[in-house]
Amino acid sequence: MDFTKHAFFEGKNVLLSDAKISIATHGFLYGTAVFGGMRAYWNEEKQRLFVFRPYDHLHRLLNSGKMMAMKIPYDEENLIQLTVDLLRLDNWKQDLYLRPTIYKADTGIGVRLHDLKDEFCMFVMAYEPYVKNDTNAHVTVSSWRRIDDNVIPARGKIAGAYANSALAKTDANLAGFDEAVVLDSHGHVSEGSAMNIFIVRDGVLITPPITDNILEGITRRSIIELARKELGLDVVERSIDRTEVFIADEMFMTGTAAQVVAVTRVDHRPVGTGSMGPVTTKLRTMFDDVVRAKNPKYSSWNVEV
Ligand code: PMP
Repeated sequence: MDFTKHAFFEGKNVLLSDAKISIATHGFLYGTAVFGGMRAYWNEEKQRLFVFRPYDHLHRLLNSGKMMAMKIPYDEENLIQLTVDLLRLDNWKQDLYLRPTIYKADTGIGVRLHDLKDEFCMFVMAYEPYVKNDTNAHVTVSSWRRIDDNVIPARGKIAGAYANSALAKTDANLAGFDEAVVLDSHGHVSEGSAMNIFIVRDGVLITPPITDNILEGITRRSIIELARKELGLDVVERSIDRTEVFIADEMFMTGTAAQVVAVTRVDHRPVGTGSMGPVTTKLRTMFDDVVRAKNPKYSSWNVEV
């Protein structure tokens, strides 16, 4: 983290080193915060920075806030402007990760959502690769279950709920795997610790529906559109059984931080041939061009800074 850069905090841009909250803050004590994870990409040729689908990210953030009875004085358009202003302030010229958060900002104890002040904040950091093995990941089916929508809204990015993701991720990593496949309480594949899941079976791209306790991923949404429009693939949103991942022809995971990660082994069994397949390869390349504003057909997804 570069603490000499700026962050948006309590209504204005300040140095990240000055953006501090009390240890008695509700959002810290109870995980009553919601967040987003956006990326901005540096296009070397155009010498410009582009934020990828900020409207979608900030809309999902506000929706997460709605579920948690939060109110902030900004809409999606205000938040996009605020994002662009923050990025301009430090004249960033590299790939970035942005973390917008809404949190219950009052201090003191008392677990609830009502009668508490909400604050919006955002910091920016240089992007570091999220999954090292992104062309050849080995994943394990986690013994942890994905949070259910009736426990903590799974379609929201709620800070406290990420204890579930952290348990799955750490156990997978400590056991030597790159990532976890997390099942929901019905035993269906939901997602990774912070990534959505796709498999290819007999030329059909399959991903769990948004009603199977997944986060409604923006990378997922983008990949579905690219697969249909550019590859002419059949994309089916349906529940995936645990054993289907063993017999899939291809498997990959998607997320803002990780982008498209090829999964080539699940619990020591090869997926398909055991190396990255053609659909995954094509989607990875296409997605990288799109996020870097190199494909004019999808330029409405790129907001120039
Ligand atoms: N699932 C979870 C639990 C996540 O945290 C993320 C990362 N935001 C994703 C899926 C992928 O979503 P997106 O493509 O919008 O980053």
